[in-house]
Amino acid sequence: MLRIDGSKGEGGGQVLRTSLALSLVTGTPFTMTNIRAGRAKPGLLRQHLTAVKAAEAVGAAEVSGAELGSRELTFHPRALAAGNYHFAVGTAGSATLVLQTVLPALLAAKAPSTLMLEGGTHNPAAPPFDFLARAYLPLLRRMGADVAATLDRPGFFPAGGGKFRVDVRPQALKPLSLMSRGRVLRREAKAVVSMIPFDVAKRELETVGSLLELRPDQLRPEELKRGQGPGNALVVEVESEHVTEVFTGFGERGKRAETVAEEVAAEVKRYLNAEVPVGEHLCDQLLLLCALARGGEFRTLPLDGHALTQLETMAHFLDVKVDVGEVDRDVRDVVV
Ligand code: ATP
Repeated sequence: MLRIDGSKGEGGGQVLRTSLALSLVTGTPFTMTNIRAGRAKPGLLRQHLTAVKAAEAVGAAEVSGAELGSRELTFHPRALAAGNYHFAVGTAGSATLVLQTVLPALLAAKAPSTLMLEGGTHNPAAPPFDFLARAYLPLLRRMGADVAATLDRPGFFPAGGGKFRVDVRPQALKPLSLMSRGRVLRREAKAVVSMIPFDVAKRELETVGSLLELRPDQLRPEELKRGQGPGNALVVEVESEHVTEVFTGFGERGKRAETVAEEVAAEVKRYLNAEVPVGEHLCDQLLLLCALARGGEFRTLPLDGHALTQLETMAHFLDVKVDVGEVDRDVRDVVV
């Protein structure tokens, strides 16, 4: 039984989700203490509890401590079970993070699975559905996975109510090599609004368009008619020869549309200037996939707290060696 201190590194939900994912794939039981001790509201929130419940179902696991607010959990997987699953967060908590908790296990199962996931699909501090569909899953498919996701309806904080479907056919993952981005082929900015003034989308696109020198045909405002509650996301997609990256900013009460656009533009510029294929968020998520594939290499930005935490958490379950080489101030080569 592994003992993991959930306060290590970022001390957030990722330590827990990565541990659940790797426990399922390796069959290793663990106990975690100090769950999300680094966060203002520690312990299991709805999203984390849903991830635990999802992992419990997929791994026919014996679990104790799976309650809201719990800071300690014991998880003992018994057998991987493919199937038709429905996981609903019940709040606007991120449903894409719930998916990422069980996806590696379902890829390693013996039969195909279908998942319906409900909750937030466009959350700050989590992979938005666009990132999942356009950046994360295409790379996973390049690694051999047979997995597809379709959005039924988006869900924003605080109302939630988003829904998407994922079809998974088990496949062993192959190592990925992503050392160069190649030429940038397409850049596009999409501003989505649900139940808030359309003008917000127009202002975001005006600002991001001028900062990133985008043409009018590269700017797409979108007003959702079927939204479950108010929400706004600004999504910039950069498609290059060898990879597509997605950068997202979220509207918040009291935050100017121009500020949302400036922040996203800064993130995109940092990525473009460094000439790396893999951005900051994709990096911590790819680390786990490469570790599961028992190999991989990619060029990225300097590793952030989530990536370093990912390395630390992975080391509990897998005997993988990860080298991070400094190419220059803004560029790192990761070899798993
Ligand atoms: P908390 O403990 O505060 O609830 P959390 O459960 O949201 O945290 P974190 O530990 O903060 O989880 O991990 C968030 C994950 O979401 C990381 O893998 C990170 O890379 C990813 N992520 C965050 N923002 C984005 C984004 N804009 N695009 C893609 N991925 C993102």
